[in-house]
Amino acid sequence: MVKVKETVETEKCDKCGKDAGYKCDCCGADFCYDCGYAGKGIIRYVHAVHFSGSEDLRLCVKCDTSPPPELIPTLEAYKAIASLKVEEEKWYEGFRIRAKQAEVIAQQRLEAFKKKA
Ligand SMILES: [Zn+2]
Ligand SMILES: [Zn+2]
Repeated sequence: MVKVKETVETEKCDKCGKDAGYKCDCCGADFCYDCGYAGKGIIRYVHAVHFSGSEDLRLCVKCDTSPPPELIPTLEAYKAIASLKVEEEKWYEGFRIRAKQAEVIAQQRLEAFKKKA
């Protein structure tokens, strides 16, 4: 048997040195799950408002806050989707509150009406 020593390149998190699994699509910085996702080291962008699968674009905070010129048009397009997502959530939250209020009022008035009758 011939023994071959192989060197395996593993990517390590730029922040803590753990095995990395996520990379910034712009500068290539590596992040482990804890630093990248849980620690919000990576900002994720998806291609549609109603979509929660895996993201198209991953950026580190540095590239997200000061993107290089070639990234700006793409980033703006993805940010527009991201802000619509937030807008919808806020809209829906407000709608839910108003719906609940309307339902409570209808119920109370119906009860009051039936008592009088
Ligand atoms: Zn890490
Ligand atoms: Zn980056």
